[in-house]
Amino acid sequence: MNISHPVLEDDQDTADFHRFSHGLYIGGQWRQSADSREIQVLDPSTEAVIAAVPDATIEDAAAAVEAAAKAADGWRTTPPRKRSEILRRCFELMTQRSETLATLISLENGKALRDARGEIAYAAEFFRWNAEEAVRITGEYGIAPSGTNRIVVDYEPIGICVLVTPWNFPAAMATRKIAPALAAGCTVILKPASETPLTAYALAALYQEAGVPPGVVNVLTTSNPGPVTAAMLADPRVRKLSFTGSTGVGRVLLAEAAKHVVSCSMELGGNAPFLVFDDADLDAAVDGAMVAKMRNAGEACTAANRIYVQSGVYDAFSESLARRMSSLKVGAGTDAATECGPMITRKAVDKIDRLVNDAVARGARVLCGGKAGSGTGYYYPPTVLCDVPAEAEMAHEEIFGPVAPISIFETEADAIARANDTEYGLAAYIYTRDLARGMQVASKIEAGMIGLNRGLMSDPAAPFGGVKQSGLGREGGQHHGIAEFMEAKYIAVSI
Ligand code: NAD
Repeated sequence: MNISHPVLEDDQDTADFHRFSHGLYIGGQWRQSADSREIQVLDPSTEAVIAAVPDATIEDAAAAVEAAAKAADGWRTTPPRKRSEILRRCFELMTQRSETLATLISLENGKALRDARGEIAYAAEFFRWNAEEAVRITGEYGIAPSGTNRIVVDYEPIGICVLVTPWNFPAAMATRKIAPALAAGCTVILKPASETPLTAYALAALYQEAGVPPGVVNVLTTSNPGPVTAAMLADPRVRKLSFTGSTGVGRVLLAEAAKHVVSCSMELGGNAPFLVFDDADLDAAVDGAMVAKMRNAGEACTAANRIYVQSGVYDAFSESLARRMSSLKVGAGTDAATECGPMITRKAVDKIDRLVNDAVARGARVLCGGKAGSGTGYYYPPTVLCDVPAEAEMAHEEIFGPVAPISIFETEADAIARANDTEYGLAAYIYTRDLARGMQVASKIEAGMIGLNRGLMSDPAAPFGGVKQSGLGREGGQHHGIAEFMEAKYIAVSI
């Protein structure tokens, strides 16, 4: 059954907006799920239900693939300039509605409004960047070494793409995939996380308004992601899976995609080391650690998960970071004064609690925080631990919360060895005033991205992604992001 969808106005009161139920967005229509079941959406700061969204079935997923297939030819043959203009319009509308969208993110995700505003700016930028890239997809032309023929290489849209995204950046993780896929000429089905579906649906309405034709972007939410995703991957028209989420689920999806040899891009978990050398600008290092640790209250794949500080500045750095962390204002994300919002779920708080207790039991010292909130809302206070031993569980697992574990190191070689002592390889941070040393250490660290004297590296213009078990492929960057959604076709031309 088709249902109406609320239009997101520029200055709309989000308190009204989130009371609406949203439909699955398939083929440009808003509809209930085939069995009319729903998923409840909670506000992590109050634990109250704020909305319900349809719970898609395998039948709904088949309808979404059908809609994406129906729209595919029209979209791939739409002139690049026209595709570019539609993407540009998405950027403009997102920017115009940034305050409403940011409030919606804060409501369903819990993150502080200032982080949500940053996310919307970042998310919108993928549309602007890919609008610019859409008209610059070129091929290759050459003479075969034998001289008998020409080599012509064309880049074609890969086909229908299934996009699966996490709750921690409900807007940006979706636009980081949708914008390059559309620029490349692909049609997509987005399955956002069930914890934060409202942003995905609000953006779907915005794409429609921007002129994205029906069926080019389809959005469905489900509480049954394994079978629903597997059913889509089994359809031979689906040629791409782009996933952002945990390494554990990534492994499951890689195995599922392997059954049908579907191309995979994987943005997975992280365990970022943050190295501070004796010669670092200490104030800059503490500022950088605050950003690298506390953006999104620590719920980021790039979050500094292990902070290694050289012995000469260990005490000064630890005390300074603890002072800054303990002064953060904790509260509901939608409260403009909040600097650290609640975690996404009770389960997330329990995991952080377990990791902190384990580290303390193994000898870590608590400089601030260290105990989960007991009231309403999924709160964990900003926490700094020092003398965290290498065998602590948090040195090997993503904390995904506002906990900064600090350990001491003596030599550069020791710091590099410890930084690399993980199955992950997404992001790493280095603070030193010696640029040559910084570049040498960066070259020895096994990570896809390095912040050298910077606590933030995310940028649509740069290739984002990890090595080792942090992922496969890159998003954003010059050509990298779009290339994930294209196939090379080689034509041998006799002359
Ligand atoms: P998650 O892996 O639990 O879920 C991610 C998505 O996968 C959600 O949409 C979920 O519904 C879906 N999913 C879960 N099980 C599935 C299955 N069996 N089949 C198909 N889909 C399934 O991750 P999360 O808790 O939502 O997000 C946090 C994780 O994401 C962290 O590990 C974080 O590091 C990672 N992450 C990585 C990046 C990156 O760019 N590398 C960015 C953001 C988050």
